[in-house]
Amino acid sequence: MSKLSKDIVQSTSGQPMVRAEGVHKSFGLAHILKGIDLEVNPREVFCLIGPSGSGKSTFLRCINHLEKISAGRLWVDGDLVGYRQKGDKLHELREKEVAAQRRDIGMVFQRFNLFPHMTALENVVEAPIRVKGETRAVARERAQRLLDRVGLGDRTGHYPAQLSGGQQQRVAIARALAMQPKLMLFDEPTSALDPELVGEVLDVMRDLAEDGMTMIVVTHEMGFAREVGDSLVFMDDGVVVESGHPRDVLTNPQHERTQSFLSKVL
Ligand code: ADP
Ligand code: MG
Repeated sequence: MSKLSKDIVQSTSGQPMVRAEGVHKSFGLAHILKGIDLEVNPREVFCLIGPSGSGKSTFLRCINHLEKISAGRLWVDGDLVGYRQKGDKLHELREKEVAAQRRDIGMVFQRFNLFPHMTALENVVEAPIRVKGETRAVARERAQRLLDRVGLGDRTGHYPAQLSGGQQQRVAIARALAMQPKLMLFDEPTSALDPELVGEVLDVMRDLAEDGMTMIVVTHEMGFAREVGDSLVFMDDGVVVESGHPRDVLTNPQHERTQSFLSKVL
């Protein structure tokens, strides 16, 4: 049993962790998501691939309330997210419900977005203290454990500028985990890194996966998708073109658009 396991919260709802039914998103006249249907099960590593501009980040952002869906239905762990349709009426959640749902979802971006004026440890303890009202002692203890776990136990007093990109991204992962999320969203977490730093971040993600964290990972790292992923979805132009087990989709893509995309990235 690894050290991180007690920081991983498993759902008890018996529902899929994420369920999307006909999810649409428009920005003004730009129709970006055009009816996304998918299901992510608890403990699953769900990889999302597709060309730039296909709507991958927009979809992740809808899950996390950073965007509101325009139509369709989206659930996280059995709870409706954002808007829901009642007849033809769009129904908005209360602010409190949104805040509660967001607390349970961790997100890691391409850019690490650490607070530059705070040490690694301070970055990790900030949200649990501010958002969850945890005591500093409890938050510090968990932060130390999480930073140990991502291999940065000896860097807790360093500021982001004193850390490499790979180290900063590992702090960002520890920071997201500190809120004890039941779902982690990764949006191209290694795309901004120098190639030699990619592996250390993927190793941390692999560890998390082995501990049973439910993760949606937008990535161009096909090796990671193949080795760690349980499901893989190929998105293009706002629709799911193809989905299945990563090995099947990557080695035997059925659709011309998937074949063409993979021929460029593999
Ligand atoms: P991906 O992550 O697959 O590269 P995105 O979800 O970032 O794609 O973007 C999909 C499309 O949505 C792009 O054409 C982008 O310009 C557009 N888009 C994303 N966010 C906004 C926004 N806030 N306002 C207008 N257009 C947006
Ligand atoms: Mg994106």
